[in-house]
Amino acid sequence: MKSLLDFARQSIPKKSPCDINQIIDRAFAVVEHQLTIKGVKIVRNLDPLLPKVTLDPNQMQQVVVNLLVNAADAIEDRGGTVMISSSLLVLSPHGIVHIKSARCPRGHDLIYGDFKIEGMASIRLKARCDGANGFILLDPIYGRNRHHFEFEAPEGKPLEVVCPECGTSLMVERGKCELCGSVTFSFDVPPQGTYEACIRRECGWQRWDAVESAGKKEYVELSVADTGVGIAKEDLPRIFEPFFTTKGQKGTGLGLAVIWGIIDNHNGTISLESEMGKGSTFRIRLPLRP
Ligand SMILES: [Zn+2]
Ligand SMILES: [Zn+2]
Repeated sequence: MKSLLDFARQSIPKKSPCDINQIIDRAFAVVEHQLTIKGVKIVRNLDPLLPKVTLDPNQMQQVVVNLLVNAADAIEDRGGTVMISSSLLVLSPHGIVHIKSARCPRGHDLIYGDFKIEGMASIRLKARCDGANGFILLDPIYGRNRHHFEFEAPEGKPLEVVCPECGTSLMVERGKCELCGSVTFSFDVPPQGTYEACIRRECGWQRWDAVESAGKKEYVELSVADTGVGIAKEDLPRIFEPFFTTKGQKGTGLGLAVIWGIIDNHNGTISLESEMGKGSTFRIRLPLRP
């Protein structure tokens, strides 16, 4: 498993413009027999007019095969449906773009792999207030705001955000939140400019000019939904971590951590929604041009 994981991380995808629906059809052919025997009904809901996506067709086929097998496993022997869909989306960068590098003005790496948010390394900053201090762990998905605060500033006291390594202040001189007028902090996102955000936890304002100025982007979305047992809410945040398995997963195949790695290598995102007893939906979004 470990070597497989390393393999997926290291193997550089061999990308070319591909028809996602063709890849889904090929993946379906691989697992059709296995799924039919289990009494799983497959529904295909594919957009026939999808543009081509630049990706590694073999890696993506592996991803789809594994998601289909996982979905069938989640259904167990009680019968159910797996629905696979493809569609074209035009999305703003909010809630989509993944911040993969972050640095303080002196060049310290702020990306923190020991604390992940939905499977992705967080951005760790230090917050200081009135002699006390603690860490804040920012959601690496731009605009999603699932931050984790290990430090709460006492009411009404000014908070300062600094680099955890060198203590350099990350506060923006004359920075002003466009929503609430509070002070702001920022860090570098090489090579994509500067990320700036409001200091107030409740506000959530953030701006990343390099990404905003690119405007909306086209994505192909591929989803695999099952009517299986579902995954417990408390397991969801860890589901893409290596070696993590739940009752709903048999631990066979590529594993979700490897799938996550492949999608990440394509600058895409994968997310999971699930409800116990109702089923799970995996959603992959791939930019047309990575
Ligand atoms: Zn620093
Ligand atoms: Zn604000």
